[in-house]
Amino acid sequence: KKHLVWFRNDLRTFDNPALSKACEDSEAKVFALFIATPKQWQTHHMSASQAAFIYDHLIQLQEALAKLGISFIYQQCDDFPDSIEFIKTICKTQAIDKVFYNNQYEFNERQRDTLLEEELLPHTLCEGFDGNLFFPPMTILNGQREMYKVFTPFSKAFVGKLLQTEQIIYPIPKKRHQTVAQQKLESFNYPLASYHNMKAGEKVAQERLISFCQEQVADYAITRDIPSLDNTSKLSAYLSVGSLSVRQCFQRLQLEHPLFWQNPKSGALCWLNELIWREFYHHLLIAYPRLSKNKPFIEWTDAINWNYDKKAFEQWKEGRTGFPIVDAAMRQLNQTGWMHNRLRMVTASFLVKDLLIDWRWGEQYFMSKLTDGNLAANNGGWQWAASTGTDAAPYFRIFNPTTQGERFDPEGKFIRQWLPELSQVPNKYIHTPQLWAEKAGQPLDYPLPIVLHKDAREKTLAAFTQAKTKA
Ligand code: FAD
Repeated sequence: KKHLVWFRNDLRTFDNPALSKACEDSEAKVFALFIATPKQWQTHHMSASQAAFIYDHLIQLQEALAKLGISFIYQQCDDFPDSIEFIKTICKTQAIDKVFYNNQYEFNERQRDTLLEEELLPHTLCEGFDGNLFFPPMTILNGQREMYKVFTPFSKAFVGKLLQTEQIIYPIPKKRHQTVAQQKLESFNYPLASYHNMKAGEKVAQERLISFCQEQVADYAITRDIPSLDNTSKLSAYLSVGSLSVRQCFQRLQLEHPLFWQNPKSGALCWLNELIWREFYHHLLIAYPRLSKNKPFIEWTDAINWNYDKKAFEQWKEGRTGFPIVDAAMRQLNQTGWMHNRLRMVTASFLVKDLLIDWRWGEQYFMSKLTDGNLAANNGGWQWAASTGTDAAPYFRIFNPTTQGERFDPEGKFIRQWLPELSQVPNKYIHTPQLWAEKAGQPLDYPLPIVLHKDAREKTLAAFTQAKTKA
């Protein structure tokens, strides 16, 4: 028997069902494969830092697989159609009996897999596993046997199922006695950029998970919304490229805090809730394929008369809007490839509700910068902030960027870290530095607010109301 494990966003050897199942038959010869698809990545706006993060993971994965006696095949193809052709060739030349992979849920990826499966028949079979989620999509359903549209009942049903289901963690497969061919991994034909303050690899991901669960998660419920405290797990990029599985996260959480269910206010429960949001957004991609096709969940919002103002968009991108919390957050994103969750909500809301710019511009820009970028969470987050999504913020609830700054960065600690030009501004004025500059007669190398929040709010409400009435 010959088995091929096709790695995609599951770059790990531990708790990888596709890899484990391929290795179950000790007689089978097992090959591993990764295909870089630079043109496809470009159309999906993958960031240069995520590409570098993936590349560095591959080097380690190749080594780890070699230790297990598994040869790693690495190929660059342009796009998904080309990768299908490549796999067909390998399966033919190597006489592969079965291809194993962990499922991806985006529309293009699913179409690719369905096509591959059809084209490989009858000589080679394909089998997909739901290794990157707790449960397969469409297995947590409401009374009408449909996917939930609202998060809270979904999460209740999810927790019920979680408590009744034994979570299987797949161990690293046993070493095989095969000769391993070593292939040099050529650099991707894709821009690469630093992924700052992070190290690649599944070992690093596991260590970070352990230290977060031991030292930080207890305070998570209180600290998670304060960007300057930096007390979230920073595991998102590992979960996105799949060097860590969400089931490992849960297992470790339970191990370190076995009684966490008993305290509804525990940090551990609060953190689990975020993992459930991740699950929810992935399940939605399957229930509503239009989410992968640039479409809003709430259809009438497609009629909003967006303001395609390129200058304002540039000012937002560069962190020059004159709203300190927005600008500090955008600079954090541009300089590190990561942004705190509260600030993702604030900056997304600012782009959509203060500048009335189409959320899809923001979604795309985030993808092009984030190391943790993934369609499910990014699209979910943007559609939430834009009030176009399922269970989104209602459109008439509009964040005030100044108040958000005052609430979540009261002394401006975070702002000062990213906007050194405001270092002289006293705490009292850190969210309205222009007022201080005027009063103190101090020139500031910092822009005036590019919009008046009150007016912008009225304009946005009118645009949403108009689109809703038209529908
Ligand atoms: P923690 O607070 O430690 O949370 C643990 C894990 O739960 C995260 O690593 C992540 O996998 C998951 N998670 C947390 N919050 C959410 C959420 N709201 N939705 C879905 N999953 C969540 N997350 C991404 O992984 N990739 C993205 O491209 C992405 N884009 C976003 C865009 C917007 C506009 C918004 C509002 C949120 C976005 N998020 C995205 C969700 C969230 O902001 C990040 O997952 C989180 O900030 C990552 O930091 P952390 O690992 O320290 O998170």
